[in-house]
Amino acid sequence: AAMVKETIRVYARVKPLGRRQQAGSYSVDVEEEPLSSLEITVPRDLADGFVNNKREIYKFKFQKIFDQEAKQDVVFDSIAKPVAECVLAGYNGTVFAYGQTGSGKTFTITGGAERYSDRGIIPRTLSYIFDQLQKDSSKVYTTHVSYLEIYNECCYDLLDPRHEASRLEDLPKVTIMEDSDQNIHLKNLSLQQATNEEEALNLLFLGDTNRMIAETPMNQASSRSHCIFTIHISSKEPGSATIRRSKLHLVDLAGSERVAKTGVGGHLLTEAKYINLSLHYLEQVIIALAEKNRSHIPYRNSMMTSVLRDSLGGNCMTTMIATLALDKRNIDESISTCRFAQRVALIKNEAILNEEIDPRLMIVQLKKEIQDLKDELELLTGKQRTSELSQEELLQLNDLIETFLKDNDPDSSLDVGADMRKIKYCFVHMKRLMNHPTTSDKKLLSQDIPEEYTNKEAGEELEKLKELLQQRDNEINILVNMLKKEKKKAQDALFQLNATSAGSAVLERSLSINLEDRQSPLSCFSLKEAKDFSSSVHRLPFLFRQ
Ligand code: ADP
Ligand code: MG
Repeated sequence: AAMVKETIRVYARVKPLGRRQQAGSYSVDVEEEPLSSLEITVPRDLADGFVNNKREIYKFKFQKIFDQEAKQDVVFDSIAKPVAECVLAGYNGTVFAYGQTGSGKTFTITGGAERYSDRGIIPRTLSYIFDQLQKDSSKVYTTHVSYLEIYNECCYDLLDPRHEASRLEDLPKVTIMEDSDQNIHLKNLSLQQATNEEEALNLLFLGDTNRMIAETPMNQASSRSHCIFTIHISSKEPGSATIRRSKLHLVDLAGSERVAKTGVGGHLLTEAKYINLSLHYLEQVIIALAEKNRSHIPYRNSMMTSVLRDSLGGNCMTTMIATLALDKRNIDESISTCRFAQRVALIKNEAILNEEIDPRLMIVQLKKEIQDLKDELELLTGKQRTSELSQEELLQLNDLIETFLKDNDPDSSLDVGADMRKIKYCFVHMKRLMNHPTTSDKKLLSQDIPEEYTNKEAGEELEKLKELLQQRDNEINILVNMLKKEKKKAQDALFQLNATSAGSAVLERSLSINLEDRQSPLSCFSLKEAKDFSSSVHRLPFLFRQ
């Protein structure tokens, strides 16, 4: 399968200054094509706060930097559109926004609600994808969406219809399952089919509404939760058994702000510690991935890194947007965001074309192929093929085999043509002849009972009956001999009786008992009694029955 090896592309977007915000000092430089660099100058008064980092100017490289005035359509075109194109081609894609709360993650991923032109990456991507699907009539596409929220290490289905009626905590939790191939599956996360842009937008709206219901001023869920909107696409060419399945994750991460502490002299110190623990684990994963020769990547430490495992160093085309609020007060957080972005830019992903074969469609296809080949064969040989050989053909083969076996010429050959059924039959028949040499000695082929050759079971039955017949002949002989002996004994006894009358009563009794003994089993069909009777005549009851 096709594979694309690529590092994660990292972009930066600077949020417009608020009315009462003091501008920080930074500059965007595009000298170093194709990369741009962002230079941030830390004001003197703030720089004192950085205990371990006395530097004042920081420089970071990005794929591209979108400054304050950059519009949503431009951002979509350069960041999300190329990923959407890959997803349409069958690759997995991820676009994730990372930055402190208020830096513009949600604005970038979902958009602003006030103006239509403020639509963010999700609605624009949906619009683009459905537009492309409509244009492409060469394939059959199926599209589903899912919307997952991860809050406090718990996953929730934002598209669950029960959302409105129940509280977040009461909904069934989405759980992560790993299959034997280490693929992640999400249990209880619904995949809603969306056949057009409007249906997909309605689902996005439903999810965003559900997200807001859970949020209270006390519980700023949006800054502490991760939201993953996923577009699932499967495509197939008509008549083909190959299906392509791809996923596009559009991710709005929790705020990346760190724990702020007041240091010596009242300065703010920013610790390298996230408010959101799962972002700490995300950083651990990214550090591990950037290290060479590191075999264990701690994806399992958090739900978010588990769900996004493929997006980070796996089978996915991944793009990150670092959202920056470059006003004076947020300079330190922005520097943290940029540092994180530089590490992410080192991660190499390997996106594979996700193709699989539908076995049911494969069977249909193969059956058709067999029929086509049969038709072709019939056309070439001019003979109609049935799966069974005809009676006539079998008799012909029997003749051929007989002639072949009787032929003493060592160069003689058995030629039945290129018909596999005939060749197979010859082997079967020869085997039969070899396993029953006595019957074949007597008569190689019983022309008078051809059923034997058309019906294997009947043939075997016939062999058994022949054996039985032979046994019965033997039994009759034994019986005749016994009768002769008994008759002789009786005559001898009669002779003795005439000679001595004294012992006659005893002898007469013994003779009658003897006869009774033998008569009762003879008239009975019980196999057991027949065995008890005598080993030499144990088949007698059968004989009598017949
Ligand atoms: P986050 O999701 O990172 O916490 P938001 O996207 O909610 O931040 O942005 C905070 C505020 O700033 C919102 O009111 C949003 O509309 C506004 N905002 C963010 N980025 C931009 C932008 N590029 N242009 C205009 N307004 C923006
Ligand atoms: Mg937000």
